Amino acid sequence: MNTWIDIEVCDNCDELFKVVRHEFPTSGTKEIEPVNCPHCGHRQYELATSGWWETYPLTEDEVRNMRANKKMK
Ligand SMILES: [Zn+2]
Repeated sequence: MNTWIDIEVCDNCDELFKVVRHEFPTSGTKEIEPVNCPHCGHRQYELATSGWWETYPLTEDEVRNMRANKKMK
C-alpha cells in the first residue's frame, strides 16, 4: 500500500486542498475517477488509481505554511 499527499490549488475558487492517495502497488486494474474540490465541488482533474483517495480542505495553519513556502521560491 502506497500513500502520498498532493496539495492542489482549485482552478475555480483558488482554495487549497490536499488529496491523500492510497494505492495498491500490485493491482493492475485502474479506474479513472474525478477529484473534486472540497470547497466548491469543482472537478479539478481525473485520477487513474488502483486504490482510493480522500480530499480535505487545508487547515488554516497548513494554508499559512503553504503560502509562506511559496514566497520563498
Ligand atoms: Zn474550489
